[in-house]
Amino acid sequence: MKKLGLLVSLLTFSSFAYSATLSIHIYSDKTFSDIIIAPLTGTYTLECDGKRMDSCSTTSIYEITVVDDSLLQVKSLDHIIGKYNHLRFRGYGTKNQFFSKPSTESVKRLYDDDLTLTAEHGNLKLINIVDLEHYVAGVVYCEAGPKKPAEFYKVQAIICRTYALNDIARHISDGFELCDMVHCQVYQGVTHNTDILQAVESTKGMVLVDDNNQLITAAFHANCGGQTLNSEDVWNSALYYLRGKQDTFCTHQPAATWEKKIPATDWKNYLDKKEKYLHTDNLHSQGYWDSIPDSKRVFLYDKGYLIPLKDIRTDWNLHSTYFTITDNGDSFTLSGRGYGHRIGLCQEGAIHMSQLGYNYQQILHFYYLDVQLIDYTLLPFSGFN
Ligand SMILES: [Zn+2]
Ligand SMILES: [Zn+2]
Repeated sequence: MKKLGLLVSLLTFSSFAYSATLSIHIYSDKTFSDIIIAPLTGTYTLECDGKRMDSCSTTSIYEITVVDDSLLQVKSLDHIIGKYNHLRFRGYGTKNQFFSKPSTESVKRLYDDDLTLTAEHGNLKLINIVDLEHYVAGVVYCEAGPKKPAEFYKVQAIICRTYALNDIARHISDGFELCDMVHCQVYQGVTHNTDILQAVESTKGMVLVDDNNQLITAAFHANCGGQTLNSEDVWNSALYYLRGKQDTFCTHQPAATWEKKIPATDWKNYLDKKEKYLHTDNLHSQGYWDSIPDSKRVFLYDKGYLIPLKDIRTDWNLHSTYFTITDNGDSFTLSGRGYGHRIGLCQEGAIHMSQLGYNYQQILHFYYLDVQLIDYTLLPFSGFN
């Protein structure tokens, strides 16, 4: 594949260049030392340690195994091709796709474009060198799922593209750009969902930038419960476009409410333990954690202590930080609203807006304050201008 952009030295510029291809560490949460790779469509060649070894056909099947801890043994159907340090399946056709199935997995996956393989600590390390738009389509399917309105898929495509390009330096010391887990964005290869493919095509290249022409932190979550939060309420930095706002579009959607019952002794022991590590706040000397809900609250007040609600959410695996507490005597009931960190775009709100006829520009501008939609090739140092 043609690499359109060039990475510009970080020392020279504060901004990265963006290429039309991304390098994604796939199966990044798995360990295995044996895999089957089978080209499905297009034209592939297999390069072993930089030398072209094989022209693959759509009936070619390769078994690649780590041997001697760091070498890759390549076997085709009938013979061993050899042992190497580095392999690349390079696509030359207009649409190149291959299947992969690690020996530890029961399901095979289909990926677009190129694949490199190396050995690391006795296991295989796979990097998918993939066209940005192919990657975005795969991510939209994983992050949004099937059967959503077409306009919402456009929203999600723009967010996922912005998110990916903004995070491109995240794994620079690991030898790739993004992993395929929630740490970056979930990606499991090709989607056949035609609504998603059309949404990606119709928003091709579009990203969101702030008033300094910088890519935004395109935060999103499942459901805000009716009120989004300011970025600094949960994270350290205050970003002007991530402001808390009322959202009436999501309040009757599936993830709008939740409930959790906790035995009284467990809850009281938890608060006692937590408070040992906190300082009292005299301004809030009265405990009123069972009072009326406050959609913007970020602390739980108990006996003069301020306990970050985001800690409580993590410790109890709660859907959100937006909840009230009812004392039942032998237990407490946490009655909550929303699902996720509640910053930026609310997916279920955006889905409902799509159903009501709002277009993707209106939806994005509702959740992200004063941002602009541009083609990413217009960004400084993109390698295109
Ligand atoms: Zn990552
Ligand atoms: Zn919402």
